[in-house]
Amino acid sequence: MCAARKQDDDGHLAVAGEGRAVALFRQVLAFMVVVMLAFVMVEGWRIWRDYRHAFSNAENMVTNLARATAQHAEDAIRQVDVVSASLAERLEGDGFEHMNRPRLQALLARQKALMPQLHGLFVYGADGRWLVTDQATLPPNLNNADRDYFVYHRNHRDRQVRIGSVVRSRSTGDLIIPISRRLEYPDGHFAGVLLGTIKVDWFVRYYGDFKIDERGALVLAKRDGTILVRRPFVSRVVGRTLANSEVFRNHLPYADEGLVEAVAVVDGTPRLYAYRALSSYPLVVEAGLSRESIVAPWRHDAIKSVAVLLLLLVGLAAFGGVVLRQLRERIVIERALHQAHQTLKSLAMTDSLTGLGNRRRLDAVFEPEVRRARRQGYPVALVMLDLDHFKAYNDRYGHLAGDQCLRRFAELLQQALKRPADLAVRFGGEEFTLLMPDTDGPGAELVVQEIQQVLRRHVIEHGGSPLGRVTFSAGIAIGDPARQAITPERLMAAADSALYQAKGQGRDGYCVANNASAGVDP
Ligand code: GH3
Ligand code: MG
Ligand code: MG
Repeated sequence: MCAARKQDDDGHLAVAGEGRAVALFRQVLAFMVVVMLAFVMVEGWRIWRDYRHAFSNAENMVTNLARATAQHAEDAIRQVDVVSASLAERLEGDGFEHMNRPRLQALLARQKALMPQLHGLFVYGADGRWLVTDQATLPPNLNNADRDYFVYHRNHRDRQVRIGSVVRSRSTGDLIIPISRRLEYPDGHFAGVLLGTIKVDWFVRYYGDFKIDERGALVLAKRDGTILVRRPFVSRVVGRTLANSEVFRNHLPYADEGLVEAVAVVDGTPRLYAYRALSSYPLVVEAGLSRESIVAPWRHDAIKSVAVLLLLLVGLAAFGGVVLRQLRERIVIERALHQAHQTLKSLAMTDSLTGLGNRRRLDAVFEPEVRRARRQGYPVALVMLDLDHFKAYNDRYGHLAGDQCLRRFAELLQQALKRPADLAVRFGGEEFTLLMPDTDGPGAELVVQEIQQVLRRHVIEHGGSPLGRVTFSAGIAIGDPARQAITPERLMAAADSALYQAKGQGRDGYCVANNASAGVDP
């Protein structure tokens, strides 16, 4: 039991060095994982933050764009509105019968010159005929009674300006937005229409001045979704409706201004839009930046960051790998060293001939065993055995046979010991020692008798001995460390003299040392 415990202690100590290396390995591994995770997290957070920034910048930009274009459209239309209101007032006040056409024409021409957005100013009679325009000469026989705005004003009595859908001018062929107003006789009857037209091109040029990417969009549309102007400008989109777009269907009905991410119905491009309804006219502007234009610079940056991060991680991993490999090699070496140390230690304590422990083993175990016996208050038995007439055995059978006999005796000795804590060693030559903790005199005698029995059962022939077989003599000493001052030397000396006594009594027997001789009473 004691021997086993001793081995545990050694094992524990030896494993400590290896354990430290293993702990270091784990710490380095954990540190590397933490550092790498930290890098990934910081970089990931930075990339995410840049993404949010890119979008909030874009949101500001489209919001500003929407406000600027809304203001621009509002101003352009209000000017025409104001001019047309005062002209209508004048026409109706003067009476249509007394109209001074040359003077009116000059007035229209002057007003038109003041407003760059204006394509033309027109007065139509109740039958749709052209009465006066800002041009000096009228194209003959033109009639606008079929125009949508004309029909509207003829049938509706409201006096507000009406913003019509884009049409192509009959006089110039330009695309124009009609801003029209009903004219009335004093009795309230329909007298005709006053029309101001704004060049679509004027908006297109204004929208073209903004520095937005090619896929960005600026749209001026009627509240019902009909497109008036759009950048990028393609004439086929004019008149198309946005009524089914995300903005017009799901946002405009609830808020006059807002930000929406949506796929454009016109060209299928995903965009971030800011829209804004004009405050005084039923018009809406939309400013949109393509998602791609917002994300692309960020993506470019993110790819670079990720590449650098990957490089860093690969470098770290490679460096860590080298360190870890060295640590692992160290662990392997320490393990091998530890095993070699254990092997050497057990070799040093083993008798090479018999495989029993040797004297060194006994010395190593003795002290701690005595201490333990003292603590726990049990006796310790020490038995010295010496083969009888062994010189004669050698002489008769030869030294090699003598060795064989010693091996055989060791085997039988081991067989006779029942308790795991009992230790048998070859003390030297043909002398053996038993150390038996927690064993008193009668117990030790029983063990010795058992060995004698075993030797009787497994006879080793010995022609040089009077008994004709190998026998041994033994001396037993019992120490009681709890009550006596016991030293290994004294216990051994007592056993030795008991052995001497047994030899003197004719061999093949044992003697028990006087208890007092084993130790000194304190
Ligand atoms: P007794 O003890 O009965 O008095 O007689 P003995 O012949 O055994 O006497 P002694 O102890 O003096 O002799 C010991 C002999 O054991 C001497 C030696 O030849 C032999 N011997 C000691 N060690 C070995 C060994 O390792 N191998 C062999 N074959 N013989 C050994
Ligand atoms: Mg001897
Ligand atoms: Mg002998």
